[in-house]
Amino acid sequence: MGMLTALVVGAAPLPAIAAGFDITVLGARGGLEDGNLSAYMVHPIGDPRAVLCDAGSVLHGLQVADRHGALDDVPMPTEAPETRPGYVLHHVIRGYLVSHAHLDHVAGLVLVSPDDSAKPIYALPSVNMVLSRDLFNGAVWPNNGDRGAPPQLGLYHYQDIVAGRPVGLAGTGMRVTAFPLSHGSVESTAFLLRSGGDAMLYLGDTGADAVEHSTRLRALWQAVAPLVRAHRLRGIVIECSYDDTHPDTQLWGHLSPRWLLRELAALQDIAHTPLRGMPVLVAHMKPSLRRGPDPVAVIPAELRSGNDMGVDFIVPEQGMRLRWGR
Ligand SMILES: [Zn+2]
Ligand SMILES: [Zn+2]
Repeated sequence: MGMLTALVVGAAPLPAIAAGFDITVLGARGGLEDGNLSAYMVHPIGDPRAVLCDAGSVLHGLQVADRHGALDDVPMPTEAPETRPGYVLHHVIRGYLVSHAHLDHVAGLVLVSPDDSAKPIYALPSVNMVLSRDLFNGAVWPNNGDRGAPPQLGLYHYQDIVAGRPVGLAGTGMRVTAFPLSHGSVESTAFLLRSGGDAMLYLGDTGADAVEHSTRLRALWQAVAPLVRAHRLRGIVIECSYDDTHPDTQLWGHLSPRWLLRELAALQDIAHTPLRGMPVLVAHMKPSLRRGPDPVAVIPAELRSGNDMGVDFIVPEQGMRLRWGR
């Protein structure tokens, strides 16, 4: 820990080189495929101190990322007792941002918790309530948190975040602002991560406003519009769970390509700024067990065929490393 901090903080030109974000895909899909579930490690360029946006797959994601060389530039003391994925888990990842408590967003966190280091869990109060009541509750899993059923082991500190109010992410160079999303019967969360003047936006599961009878995405687009206008929003991670053959009545609080395109068009309209070239990572595609066209191929094809805005749709794969910025 001290070694890493010294390497990072001791590097004097840090503010000058930090102009955007590195994103490592620890889990790319939404449901079904255990071991490859929503989890994105994010840190400012040049500053490895990271957080995870959702934690569906943690250790397996780190192991795959390591095999792909995506962790090779983590400064790691030669005398570190851990494997590289272990070192990253213990010392590089400084906290979890949990969009909602569905298992495909927290399973990796639960499973790795017996060998994790102490960390904060940043979430809206409704999400931390479910984690502490229904997951780390001494029955489903030991209570590794600092709330709920005794004995509280206190490894994780639940940090409730107030929607719309930025908070610093301890031990990192980033701040986050949370925005509530409508996800069927559940409150989910979008996290706007800031580093210096740059920003990236991670959305947990969400339906379209028109389908959800909601205005939450509209409110989010209004909040980030100034960053789009200033060309400071470096990229968006957003879900697209089903292909367009899926009826709107069975989206269960998720997006399909036509709704994702419509919501991005809404952002473009509100920002009065073309989104051409904006990186948009297509998260949370749900694998299908049916023979025939693979949704993981069909969804990006449908997005690209309707892509009048010219956004840069990215299909994530586990272990992939992306750089969004200058
Ligand atoms: Zn999900
Ligand atoms: Zn969900």
